[in-house]
Amino acid sequence: MTLHFDLHAHSTASDGSLSPAALMQRAQAAGVDVMALTDHDTLEGLDEAAATARALGVTFVPGVEVSVTWQGITVHILGLSVDAHNDDLSQGLADLRKFRDWRAEEIGRRLARDGIPGAYEGARGFSSGRLISRTHFARFLVAQGYAPDLRRVFRRFLVHGKPGHVAGEWASLEDAVGWIRAAGGQAVIAHPARYRLTRGKLRRLIGEFSEVGGAALEVVSGSHSRDDYFTMAMHARDFGLLASAGSDYHGPEHPWIELGQLPALPVGCKAIWKDWHLSQ
Ligand code: AMP
Ligand code: MN
Ligand code: MN
Ligand code: MN
Repeated sequence: MTLHFDLHAHSTASDGSLSPAALMQRAQAAGVDVMALTDHDTLEGLDEAAATARALGVTFVPGVEVSVTWQGITVHILGLSVDAHNDDLSQGLADLRKFRDWRAEEIGRRLARDGIPGAYEGARGFSSGRLISRTHFARFLVAQGYAPDLRRVFRRFLVHGKPGHVAGEWASLEDAVGWIRAAGGQAVIAHPARYRLTRGKLRRLIGEFSEVGGAALEVVSGSHSRDDYFTMAMHARDFGLLASAGSDYHGPEHPWIELGQLPALPVGCKAIWKDWHLSQ
């Protein structure tokens, strides 16, 4: 029997819309055998998700998606099989959340100057009171009618060059990978095709990532095309890296991505789970 893996998803601990428990229930209903929770810059949902997964008979992989600034761009590094109570990782993430809190207030001030009052408070209202993300601003702006959907609201307000964009000052690549390894985890470059890097720059990123101890590329991702799967499989092979697969699920109101619908890794990939001792 082939196991179904989904190694990238979000809950209300960051910018997903299902609680950690509800996410695990949906994973089980979707036929996922091995499910990770990888919230942005927080470990807060992991204990709840682990308890629910255990009760449901789903194998749980505790994870995180760390925000990194590399050569001026934001890159996401997943940590898989991390210890949810490791001090190095927890402290690194706490510092990133401090930057997030400041940035959210700054986004609010900039949107206010642009004629949109109350966005900081509005975004907080969408954020379950924990971590705050641009996704919460996007949900507020859509609810207020500033754009018809999340994609368009990002394009109009929240990306580089738009009024609600604040440049990131996230972790270094080396620190992010170091924290993940200190917590016993494996580091994975999330959705590598999404950064729209030239081939040369992407290979520099992968090379540096590999040198500092990174383990894998997310070859199959909910935000990759079929062509991207094969391109990233080739890069993984060239650098001797493992391959991961994850939907990047954020909740049912993002209907273009569902849990547990991922195709198999391309032939020739070494799956990140090949040496895992899988148990519940
Ligand atoms: P942040 O980490 O707060 O800067 O927010 C980044 C998150 O915003 C990503 O993890 C996605 O969930 C979401 N996001 C970024 N760009 C888009 C987009 N174009 N459409 C929908 N969601 C997006
Ligand atoms: Mn997100
Ligand atoms: Mn991401
Ligand atoms: Mn993600």
